[in-house]
Amino acid sequence: MFDTLSDRLGAALSGLRGKGRLSEADIDTTAREIRIALLEADVALPVVRAFIARIKERAKGAEVSEALNPAQQVVKIVNEELISVLGGETRRIALAKEPPSVIMLAGLQGSGKTTLAGKLARWLKGQGHTPLLVACDLQRPNAVNQLQIVGERAGVVTFAPEPGNGVGDPVDVARRGVAHACDKMYDIVIVDTAGRLGVDAELMQQASDIRDAVRPDETLFVVDAMIGQDAVTTAEAFRDGVGFTGVVLTKLDGDARGGAALSVREVTGQPILFASNGEKLEDFDVFHPDRMASRILGMGDLLTLIEQAEQVFDAEKAQVTADKIGSGELTLEDFLDQMLAIRKMGPIGNILGMLPGANSAQMKEALAQVDDKQLDKLQAIIRGMTPAERDNPKIINGSRRLRIANGSGVQVSDVNDLVNRFFEARKQMKQMAGQFGFGGAAARRV
Ligand code: GDP
Repeated sequence: MFDTLSDRLGAALSGLRGKGRLSEADIDTTAREIRIALLEADVALPVVRAFIARIKERAKGAEVSEALNPAQQVVKIVNEELISVLGGETRRIALAKEPPSVIMLAGLQGSGKTTLAGKLARWLKGQGHTPLLVACDLQRPNAVNQLQIVGERAGVVTFAPEPGNGVGDPVDVARRGVAHACDKMYDIVIVDTAGRLGVDAELMQQASDIRDAVRPDETLFVVDAMIGQDAVTTAEAFRDGVGFTGVVLTKLDGDARGGAALSVREVTGQPILFASNGEKLEDFDVFHPDRMASRILGMGDLLTLIEQAEQVFDAEKAQVTADKIGSGELTLEDFLDQMLAIRKMGPIGNILGMLPGANSAQMKEALAQVDDKQLDKLQAIIRGMTPAERDNPKIINGSRRLRIANGSGVQVSDVNDLVNRFFEARKQMKQMAGQFGFGGAAARRV
């Protein structure tokens, strides 16, 4: 996502590098290039205009700074303005003081509401809540069933109208759903509503009726980021027709341009709360304007990476590994452990994509070559080794290599490759640990 925008912004800003002073003409040229980058990314025109005006004004009035050169100063301004367009502070979901809290989802058909219901439920459950899904999309054939399926995957209960009991009235189902939640002590109710292919009055009326019946604590407008400029008109229609308190952007994985993300907040005045970037329930995250801005500017998203890492790595174990790295005692068993933990964080390409510099041409090329299958292969090879071999890879001689290759279904050259690379990496990591002073007592002795 945001690839084109990142590339173009990067190019616009790189023109400033190396300049000792910025003239008005430099700023105008850069502003023009940023404007084109935003328009190409499908950002709504009024948003682009306001954005460029602020950049120009701030860049021209910027104080001479000792810490930053002029180019860095402009990058800083662009970064701050991007954060502000994206909403400024991260806005957390608002829950009621007295449970159950009600979260209503609204949006066009196909925007990803039902999938989002499952994602939200899974996420809330992970935070210790007991959510209940309520199926009020009685329009689309199979929508109730689809909600039940995502509910099962998320491990939560779905409240649905009884089959055979007429088509039912979505407002009544919503009301009964909330009553059921009160009864059974669910603390959050997620109401999935019907969408249409386009905005229409009947749809707005139904969503408003449900809203009035259940008085949601949050009404989330769900919008497919791939629809580009239409996202803004649809958002305006829902704002005026139903009203909402937050936005969820979906399908950011498929959107190379990202204009919707940059426009919806500014145009509707409502914050983006969550972002979805895939079909699986875990492809979902809280939306952080600052992190998104730094991702757009190619500055990486280390905070998200660190948070994800914290979920899968065990701190004590990590310290032991760091110590071993420092003393050059890392084994293949440790290496396998680390690899398995990293893979829990998702596809390796996604993880590397969050690192600073991930937008650079070399990094992109490297990322394109990273392949989860390669990792599968490495895992298979290590698993084909005996504990003694994993512990002390130096004993892996020719005949052992042949046995491991046969056992794990690879060539001997693959085993050689892994073992050689492991020794090389261990050496380098030990040096780095020494340089950066991590790795505990052992490292400091080196
Ligand atoms: P609804 O009509 O608003 O309930 O939309 P659905 O939840 O049924 O989603 C429509 C389609 O979009 C389904 O095929 C989903 O799997 C897919 N989808 C939903 N969210 C995402 C996402 O973030 N990324 C991608 N690639 N697909 C998504």
